[in-house]
Amino acid sequence: MLNSFVLLFIAVIVLKVLWDITLDLINMRYSTSPNAKIPDVLKDKISEEDFEKAKRYLKDRVTLGVIMKITSLILTLVYVFFLFPFLEKVLESKGSFIVQSLLFFGIYALIDYLVELPFKVYSIFVIEQKYGFNTTTPKLFVRDQIIGIILGVIIGVPIISIMMWLLNKFTVWWWQLSILSTAFLLFFMIIQPLVIAPLFYKFSELDDEELKSKLRALLDKSGVKVPHIYKMDASKRTKKQNAYLTGIGKSRRLVLFDTILSYNHDEVLSIVGHELGHHVKKHIPKLLLIDIVFISFVLYITNVVYRFILETRIFGVSQPYTVFAYSFLFVSSLVFFLEPILNYLSRKMEYEADEYSAKLLGTPEPLISSLKRLVKENLSNPNPMPLYKVWHYNHPAPEERIKRLMEMGVIDRDG
Ligand SMILES: [Zn+2]
Repeated sequence: MLNSFVLLFIAVIVLKVLWDITLDLINMRYSTSPNAKIPDVLKDKISEEDFEKAKRYLKDRVTLGVIMKITSLILTLVYVFFLFPFLEKVLESKGSFIVQSLLFFGIYALIDYLVELPFKVYSIFVIEQKYGFNTTTPKLFVRDQIIGIILGVIIGVPIISIMMWLLNKFTVWWWQLSILSTAFLLFFMIIQPLVIAPLFYKFSELDDEELKSKLRALLDKSGVKVPHIYKMDASKRTKKQNAYLTGIGKSRRLVLFDTILSYNHDEVLSIVGHELGHHVKKHIPKLLLIDIVFISFVLYITNVVYRFILETRIFGVSQPYTVFAYSFLFVSSLVFFLEPILNYLSRKMEYEADEYSAKLLGTPEPLISSLKRLVKENLSNPNPMPLYKVWHYNHPAPEERIKRLMEMGVIDRDG
């Protein structure tokens, strides 16, 4: 019985990674095969040369990703068989239970961080550099890392302390942790735009007055109250483009990456229209609710596994923090198989936001044109494999979004 649980535990962790890597590799083969064609709707904007470049970019990213996933699997097995029990023993005599927990998760996070760091460096300074996206200087990179670590400590220490206090006090703790997570999610939504984002980016008022007045008119038309329109210096790190709407009440803000200002006004308006669509269709509270249900479910299952590991002493560990680490590793691999459900819901919302934008602007054309530019300039994969899209895509593929918008255009013109 016990041995079969250990077997199941290892099987789930290994199968998750194998399945993940298999999907990556077959998607890469599918998208880069000589039979792969540029989708018809993208042909006017994507040249053969762009297409070949996008294929090479995909290959480079998948190769790095696969090496990283295998490394991380080996590391996980080292944790399970060696490091977790070893750390528990070493920390036994080191101060109070909370101090031990903080040291345990601190060391765990530090090892993970150090193992991931070379992959991060390679991704930014080799791959993104090679395709002309990277603008991050090594100095800025180091600064980002330091701020990231400090933030991690400031946010992590109180959360882990409260969590471990709860775990130490109760054997059934999933619903208390769910409440804690919900509070944290809400707190994070408030402080993210106000405190965290400004640590990394500069936000300034949009200086293109004509665009600003067009944006104001669009906001009025949609009825969404947005006190601030900002330009963000994304170009300090990347050439990729984006825009988003965030914050609650008076802190609500529309943020345009400065990289997107090379788009014509109608294209920018169509992208903003899409973001407004998410807002008007209440996608943000809906996603929050989905997140809360999902997190509560994960915590419930984790709690069940936790009690089993604690009672059976199956891994030879008995401290709540170590048992929690085992349970969480197992359940986080398990929920990977639920990812398609969440992505399905997300893709539905993206279609709704596209539709809203086209209706708000009275035409789908600028959004179609923006999507084509995004594929071309961000070197997105124009041909993802269907199963890969079902599993990993939280946005529909650009081809599908464009087709759906074109259908809308036809309906509008006919009727
Ligand atoms: Zn969207």
